[in-house]
Amino acid sequence: MSTQPFIPRLCVIGVGLIGGSLARSLREQGKVGEVIGSGRNEENLRTAVHLGVVDRYDIDPTNAVVGADVVVIAVPLGAIGEVLRAIVPHLAAHAVVTDVGSAKGSVVADIERVYGHIPPHFVPGHPIAGTERSGVEASFATLFQNRRVILTPLAETDAAAHRLIRTMWEFTGAEVVDMGVRHHDVVLAATSHLPHMLAYTLVDTLARLDDRAEIFRYAAGGFRDFTRIASSDPRMWHDICVANREQLLEMIALFSADLEQLAGAIRNGDQSVILTLFERAKRARDNLYLD
Ligand code: NAP
Repeated sequence: MSTQPFIPRLCVIGVGLIGGSLARSLREQGKVGEVIGSGRNEENLRTAVHLGVVDRYDIDPTNAVVGADVVVIAVPLGAIGEVLRAIVPHLAAHAVVTDVGSAKGSVVADIERVYGHIPPHFVPGHPIAGTERSGVEASFATLFQNRRVILTPLAETDAAAHRLIRTMWEFTGAEVVDMGVRHHDVVLAATSHLPHMLAYTLVDTLARLDDRAEIFRYAAGGFRDFTRIASSDPRMWHDICVANREQLLEMIALFSADLEQLAGAIRNGDQSVILTLFERAKRARDNLYLD
């Protein structure tokens, strides 16, 4: 006797690194029946079928979501509103919808704009996992293992829908935590969005120097570690800057003031300010739990 998989029909809109990795993981665990992909680029979707990430695809998201039990929107933040606007009239009555966007306030604003209210079946989410690579070919089933996934359910969110999305992510090996929307955006501005701004700016500043070839030739491990994330997709990061503008600007201002203070200490040869800062930072870094 055959039992129904946990999600009989899953629709992933945006079969890239995150959407593709989620589909791969759930398939590997046998937690999904059919997986339908959607996106703008047919070649990427054909590759997704070829790699076994999805069973079939439909370029038109309004067709792709028909009959789906769970719809995962895994497109760049700037495209979530337009995707939602297209699919909402075509969702099954029982469908649960979630997203994976790296900022949550903008997604909630998109939801409110499209629906005119907060629908109970939408569970906003954000897996804290990724690489600097994009596209379905970069996806892999273990991406979320031992990583965190943040869900930001709202007062209106249906408890059963919330549980379903929580369990879906737990099947990928992730630890799922709930957080308020604003708290999520403040925390992520500090831990992810600001570091990406620093990496992009550092690489860009050095790449515009006359002797850049010489400089990059001598770049050692530390430079590689620090700047790996500057290879991330520019469009995606543009969208994150726009989506989390206020929180990110606050973090940039805080960091700029501290950097300026360090510059002042270096200018004045103020050994105690420099050492105090480095020692404080080393202590904090050594005590961090970072895997
Ligand atoms: P990705 O590999 O580039 O995948 C995004 C997919 O979305 C692509 O396959 C693209 O396919 C599709 N897409 C783009 N615009 C679309 C549109 N207007 N309509 C339909 N499909 C569209 O990017 P990703 O890294 O998976 O990121 C996806 C989401 O995850 C973003 O919201 C990002 O903020 C979030 N996220 C990323 C990371 C990370 O480290 N990468 C981590 C956590 C969360 P087509 O070109 O075929 O349309």
